[in-house]
Amino acid sequence: DNQNLFTALRAAFPADLDATAIETADTPQPLVYTWRDLDRATGMIANLLASLDLPAGSRVAVQTEKSVEALMLYLAVLRAGFVYLPLNTAYQSSEIEYFLGNAEPGVVVCSGKNFGWVSKIAFKAGTQHVFTLNEDRSGTLLERAAHHPPEHAPAVRRADELAAILYTSGTTGRSKGAMLTHGNLLSNAKTLFDYWGWRRPGAGRDGGGDVLIHALPIFHVHGLFVASHGALLAGARMIWFSRFDPRAVVARLPEATVFMGVPTLYVRLLAEPGLTKQACRNMRLFLAGSAPLLIETFNEWRARTGHTIVERYGMSETAMLTSNPYHAKDGDRRGGTVGFPLPGVGLRVRDDAGQACPTGEIGGIEVKGPNVFVGYWRMPEKTKEEFTDDGWFKTGDVGKVDGRGYVTIVGRSKDLIISGGYNVYPAEVEGFINEMPGVAESAVIGIPHPDFGEGVIAVVVPKAGAEVDAAAVIAGLKGRIANFKVPKQVFVVGELPRNTMGKVQKNLLREQHKGLFG
Ligand code: ATP
Ligand code: MG
Repeated sequence: DNQNLFTALRAAFPADLDATAIETADTPQPLVYTWRDLDRATGMIANLLASLDLPAGSRVAVQTEKSVEALMLYLAVLRAGFVYLPLNTAYQSSEIEYFLGNAEPGVVVCSGKNFGWVSKIAFKAGTQHVFTLNEDRSGTLLERAAHHPPEHAPAVRRADELAAILYTSGTTGRSKGAMLTHGNLLSNAKTLFDYWGWRRPGAGRDGGGDVLIHALPIFHVHGLFVASHGALLAGARMIWFSRFDPRAVVARLPEATVFMGVPTLYVRLLAEPGLTKQACRNMRLFLAGSAPLLIETFNEWRARTGHTIVERYGMSETAMLTSNPYHAKDGDRRGGTVGFPLPGVGLRVRDDAGQACPTGEIGGIEVKGPNVFVGYWRMPEKTKEEFTDDGWFKTGDVGKVDGRGYVTIVGRSKDLIISGGYNVYPAEVEGFINEMPGVAESAVIGIPHPDFGEGVIAVVVPKAGAEVDAAAVIAGLKGRIANFKVPKQVFVVGELPRNTMGKVQKNLLREQHKGLFG
């Protein structure tokens, strides 16, 4: 039988194909797409792709603004059996040159406004076909697809064949292309469907199915896989935002049941006076991930909305790995933790010598499961390095597991600081700083130091309207934590450098301060 991911998603469409699948929230006029529209449009685009005579395994690289048609394009690539390769919309020419040169896609789809420079780079990388797709549905992709019939039998694929290549966010260095199979993505989607209790129309307590507010970019695991696959498997309606607008999202909350966001989205929603228990009366699930959720945000959210955010942890290479429980029978949702390994996911913590860490001890997180990718695109050496001899993937994250099985991430191994021979876990120090009056957030980093190897410094952002004194931060830490953990210098700044996924780019901070200790 056909193990193409599209086949499983298509099979989950509700019986009533004329029901609304997606409704746009921020186009000039609201647009409504039925399940039949999704079926027909993906069929037409798949037929267009099939007509190009591309070799098997061809990559379809896509850098377009977020739109429902862009999601259809993703589904069509799966349907036609090619490999979907989304690119961050923020990437400019030197980045696109690297990605297209590295991926050598058979097809490139870009925004019309970028066609000139993108097509030049694409042709240089050997791509024969460059289409355009704009936010307003114009562009050559849909013009050409319109000449193709809507019926298309999904290409037959095995579970171990590639469905997508996702470039990592590049937080710790150059982005790597994580190769994910149809089986990787489908197994994770099904696990999350069950674990988070997705509701199909007609199946919920009140017969109402889930309604998802989709306000994340779709070039990354979170928005493309976790959010979209969940809604599609549930046959759930999506309220579709092409950009995150906190006020507009709050206005649509009363109609919705599920929301997913990176931590910064929650912070911005909390700044909206309209965010109340009343506005969230129909919600059943708020999910957060991609970066650590501050405990303050977790607590404030509960106080304001009456809902406890479910924080989960994952990465491009594995999709989702752990989640706080949704069902009370599985346990409480604990702020500051990322919950339990998902069913089917193996997770262990080991020290640098490869020995298992005892409960509660900090070490490198390693994982195993049907969701774990098959390797980095064209980086066999790197792939080998990141797997243990017994086949576990080294996530690059450092953390611990407590006696009840809750996993806590304390940072990335690359961000770990070794000062005078002692390990300093940035998240621990940041936790103390963030509790100080007037502090909104902080980043603790290590930079080269002639005596200590690395010296600890902190970059601190004050709350709006508050003032933070650098010397007071240092004084406040002394006596509370070991001296080797106390930052030697504190810099107060307006904001931390973040990438589009809301992740703090500590490599930029390290670069900026590298000369500090000579
Ligand atoms: P690169 O691998 O290129 O340096 P990246 O690791 O940021 O970039 P992604 O795959 O997008 O690229 O992000 C995965 C990482 O995000 C995880 O390894 C982890 O460090 C972080 N992360 C995800 N969810 C959480 C969470 N809930 N809490 C803390 N960190 C998280
Ligand atoms: Mg990574």
